[in-house]
Amino acid sequence: MKNVISDMDGVVYRGKQLIPGAQAFVDRMLAARIPFLFLTNNAEQTPYDLKLKLESLGVHGLTEDNFITAAMATAMFLKNQKDRAKVYVIGGGGLINELYNVGFSISESNPDYVVVAKSATFSFEQLKKAVRLIDQGAKFIGTNPDMIDPVEGGNEPAAGTILAAIAAATGKKPYIVGKPNALMMTLALRKLGAHPDDTLMVGDRMDTDIVGGMEAGMKTALVLSGVTTTDMIDHFPYKPDYVFNNVGEIALDKL
Ligand SMILES: [Mg+2]
Repeated sequence: MKNVISDMDGVVYRGKQLIPGAQAFVDRMLAARIPFLFLTNNAEQTPYDLKLKLESLGVHGLTEDNFITAAMATAMFLKNQKDRAKVYVIGGGGLINELYNVGFSISESNPDYVVVAKSATFSFEQLKKAVRLIDQGAKFIGTNPDMIDPVEGGNEPAAGTILAAIAAATGKKPYIVGKPNALMMTLALRKLGAHPDDTLMVGDRMDTDIVGGMEAGMKTALVLSGVTTTDMIDHFPYKPDYVFNNVGEIALDKL
């Protein structure tokens, strides 16, 4: 396989635990000079944050260019739609940074888009502002659909929950860029300069990673180190091209 796009959670780590084989997988790609990207629906962390996170877990050799986040994908998508747009943002520094990087300005007055991600400081005022701006015609965009993030101590509301509140108040549905939208995979392919036929999508979820990879025309590899067990695979109308216990087992030169 000439290129790799890989999910992170359940593939490289689970919570704060490194999954066996993760470093071997990275080393193999680096040694074979295989272009690769780690892809995440997370819109809060920058590629630099993610590189540091993986280093702290013991995965070395990565650069910021090895990551694509839902925040980056959202900024890439919007930039393709409209040059120099104004956006109202609900979300953290990671998202705002990416929107600035594509030349957008952040504004509460007549924005072209309301862009929503998970926000730890989300307030009623922001909800009201977003609802009114969308009522006035701003386009409603979400970075990722995840309703909750499992964290230590229980679940945490995520982007999807905030999107649902705004959707309820406006009667409008957001356009959501992150997985399972195959757009996320397509943007990752473009960032790699890769053709889908030559690219392997690796992930632990059938309903996001595998379906998204398949719809983008890539070969898919399911790893059983995350949320999916072998018995669950048959419950989906599509199947992965390959199944592995963990990424350490993926022999890229043999696929
Ligand atoms: Mg995952």
